[in-house]
Amino acid sequence: MSSVPDTRSPSPAIAATELEDLNPFHVSRRQFDRAVGHLAQLKRGLVDFLKTPVRTIEVCFPVEMDDGSVRTFKAFRVLHNRIRGPGKGGIRYHPDVTADEVRALAGWMTWKCALADVPFGGAKGGVICDPKKLNDAELRRITRRYISDLGDNIGPHTDIPAPDLYTNEKTMAWIYDTYDVMHPGRNNLPVVTGKPVDLGGSLGRSEATGRGVMVATRRFLEHGSVPDLRSLAGCTVVVQGFGNAGSVAARLFHEQGAKIIGISDSQGGVVSQAGIDPVVAIAHKAKTGAVAGLEGTREVTNGELLETPCDILIPAALENQILRDNAPRIQAKLVAEAANGPTTPDADEILSRRGIYVLPDILANAGGVTVSYFEWVQNIENEQWDLATVNAKLERKMGAAVDTVVERAKRMVGLSASGDGRPSVPILRTAALVVAIERVARVALERGIWP
Ligand code: NAD
Repeated sequence: MSSVPDTRSPSPAIAATELEDLNPFHVSRRQFDRAVGHLAQLKRGLVDFLKTPVRTIEVCFPVEMDDGSVRTFKAFRVLHNRIRGPGKGGIRYHPDVTADEVRALAGWMTWKCALADVPFGGAKGGVICDPKKLNDAELRRITRRYISDLGDNIGPHTDIPAPDLYTNEKTMAWIYDTYDVMHPGRNNLPVVTGKPVDLGGSLGRSEATGRGVMVATRRFLEHGSVPDLRSLAGCTVVVQGFGNAGSVAARLFHEQGAKIIGISDSQGGVVSQAGIDPVVAIAHKAKTGAVAGLEGTREVTNGELLETPCDILIPAALENQILRDNAPRIQAKLVAEAANGPTTPDADEILSRRGIYVLPDILANAGGVTVSYFEWVQNIENEQWDLATVNAKLERKMGAAVDTVVERAKRMVGLSASGDGRPSVPILRTAALVVAIERVARVALERGIWP
């Protein structure tokens, strides 16, 4: 696994003119198919089952708004599978949520939990709404109605939600409270993770995703696969998306000695070759609502931000950010995916041929679900672990996952090296999926296909 970035154009197959398919479910299936190509021993029928979510729930409900009007909202909860344990996955609030997006995210959760080796299956939820145009009381009513309509399709041992895009610990508190009202007289804390710490949340959960990205990247660099990049100290880093995952990642990379030279949010980005102090940027965003206008920086679009030369690029916002179109212009040595699904399969191939490694979402951002698992265990045991314990356990889990994927990738490169010695496939994503699919398939067969 050694390579050097170059700026060659994509292969003719990739450069074809047809529109790129950006449907996240199709993207996730292409990734899956590529990985399954390395698992010839798997039974075809089992492969079909693992590729398909077992359940998609769509609900539609009215909510009374603060101005007295009534609006109808549509929402989803998808269970991908429960082979290794209860469904687990966040809930996002966003105007662009679709059933296929939630299906893709649920599948990625299955593979992420298997890779992190936490005893969960995969699930995900989404409500089609624009949280920026809703106040707290309206968001609370939407949350309560959504959770009450899901009824017993979620539960502490069946399907356990968590935060995602535009939901946070306040949302999780409402979810817990709603479920608890519906199921009085028992310990319902494990029904949802990412709760406030004084309501059964785990210390370290709010920063677990960003911390996991930092730990995974640091560990990957220690393996020495990225030329001239063996530690975070002195690296230049660009972070797209300055929310929970992105802002924490920026702060922790900075603490490790990396220089943050670009950050962004939905309104645009800012860059500074002198470096951005993430703590100052977090305070600026809290005060003004955006990263734009941060002192000592120059404003750029999100597109320009992604193409800024840097050592490590961290997409931490939405799917479909690194595409066939802009992948030839990405100038990072490593892409560490804090977001789910930020890189399309065509872009993956282009980056791979250019020698740019991608630390895939199901590995890089697994810190969130790992500490969610710790929260669930603490809730079941009525315990609270101290922060040092949580972070040490997180670091061990992430380190083991990275080592396993690197080891598998090294074995696979021999199979897939292109003529010039560069991997012709997105090797880390494929290796991560191969490990995860193998683990889930093994348990499915151990349990025995029902009946
Ligand atoms: P968040 O709501 O806290 O933050 C999202 C950030 O992205 C905000 O700063 C927002 O302004 C920015 N953003 C939105 N649209 C953008 C755009 N078009 N361009 C640039 N920035 C944009 O959400 P989060 O929890 O940090 O989640 C971010 C990503 O990380 C998502 O893909 C999510 O699935 C993934 N993730 C989150 C967790 C978690 O524990 N929160 C865990 C694993 C993965």
